Amino acid sequence: MLPFKAIYHDGYDLNLGAHVFPSQKFRLIKEKLLADGIASPGDILAPAPAEDEGVLRVHTPDYVRKLKTGELSPTEIMRMEIPYSRALMDACWLAAGGSILAGQRALADGAASNIGGGFHHAYPDHGEGFCVLHDVAIAIRKLQFDGRIERAMVVDTDVHQGNGTAAIFGRDESVYTLSIHQENNYPSHKPPSTCDINLPDGVGDPEYLSMLEDGVREAFEDFGAQILFYVAGADPYCEDQLGGLMLTIDGLRKRDELVFDYARRNGVPVVTTLAGGYARRIADTVQIHVNTIAALRDSIAERTT
Ligand SMILES: [Zn+2]
Repeated sequence: MLPFKAIYHDGYDLNLGAHVFPSQKFRLIKEKLLADGIASPGDILAPAPAEDEGVLRVHTPDYVRKLKTGELSPTEIMRMEIPYSRALMDACWLAAGGSILAGQRALADGAASNIGGGFHHAYPDHGEGFCVLHDVAIAIRKLQFDGRIERAMVVDTDVHQGNGTAAIFGRDESVYTLSIHQENNYPSHKPPSTCDINLPDGVGDPEYLSMLEDGVREAFEDFGAQILFYVAGADPYCEDQLGGLMLTIDGLRKRDELVFDYARRNGVPVVTTLAGGYARRIADTVQIHVNTIAALRDSIAERTT
């Protein structure tokens, strides 16, 4: 039913228990895609965990060793803001494998969705803000290393700035990074993306969509991307507990359509990843993420008709 593959693994669950990050959302999104008839079981592929060799193209050997042996200091774990466990490590390696597989499938099929990933606050040498491994950077480096692409674009619409993405690709002209986010919010230190759109508190649909379009138009004019990784956070939503913007569910879908429309007109394959989402009702977070995948489906349908 989907004109591309969705990537999912039961091991994506971060097993956080009672935590503001609803780590069961990955399974709930997959189930809703099936229940709503958007995807069929055959559209969903399970990833393998990322290989350590690939993880090490982004992360430092010292950090990777500490993650694998459980030798992170209490301060390092506190900065991650999620409890360390073996299951968490498995989930992070699987999410990175999922973004790699989604990148490979998008180059073949024109699009792919990782029903996970988007851990954009992970730095080369530490994790923070619920993010341990930077799955999108690991995927881009793998595709570059394999000679599949040279130039990638990351468009990040999570309400929080993509600080890990900006730090990793800051001096790399082969990757264009755009982040549109609430300025007065985490992270306090925001290393510069190629393009940062800093929004004041309380911005709603019309203003947001207008500023996003200006940024995305300029990005596609300035940079010839061979693949787009879209970090589609659900947390610019007006009911989000960690966000201070005022987008509606309809506005968030228009946001997705806008990004996909520019990719389609420029012939650029698209990978979607999830990132954050902390709505008071988890059903809203799930709906926003499902809508992203449905909007990508509609965009691909337009491409082929
Ligand atoms: Zn966020």
